[in-house]
Amino acid sequence: MSAPPPPFRTTAAPAAGAIARPAATAAVMAAPAIFRCERQRATLTTTSCARMWRAAQERAAPPQPWESLAHCHGCPIGARHAGRPDLILFAPATALRLICPRCTRQATRLIRGRLCISCYNRDLEARKGRNAKGSRLRLCAVLHAAELAVIEGNGAVRHVRQAPVVSLAEAMLMIARAAKAPVAFGRAVADAAAV
Ligand SMILES: [Zn+2]
Repeated sequence: MSAPPPPFRTTAAPAAGAIARPAATAAVMAAPAIFRCERQRATLTTTSCARMWRAAQERAAPPQPWESLAHCHGCPIGARHAGRPDLILFAPATALRLICPRCTRQATRLIRGRLCISCYNRDLEARKGRNAKGSRLRLCAVLHAAELAVIEGNGAVRHVRQAPVVSLAEAMLMIARAAKAPVAFGRAVADAAAV
């Protein structure tokens, strides 16, 4: 004996497990969501939050502490609202943002996001081979490529090569500043996956 035919429906029924939405839901979702931003101490729409977050990230230099946009720089909520969860920063890494990885001093800004002004100028001279007085810099003999095994987040091991650096510590700081999760370092060995 065959099963009876399914009942005739005039409108599409939601699939099993699906949540039926009222027709007005689309209009409700179109309205900008509002939330309380504790960093700005203000009530914002998600749209304005995303716009401010983008403005803070796109600055050539990070906003100064006294600027309103400084609160948006590196904000994970802003990154989500802007559709860039991949750019959510890891707080301990953010704390290293203005530490020069070469001299380990706190800087007001890092040139090209890499070195403090002093180290950057010495690095430029080293690449030319001589300083303004024509003397060969000791730094020329110190710069080298460093190779490390890097373990981050899911435990996978990456083989990373950083160059030029003055020490393994500089290479580690550069990697730690960009980390998205807790990171550990080891000596690069042949069986580590090459990057
Ligand atoms: Zn420096």
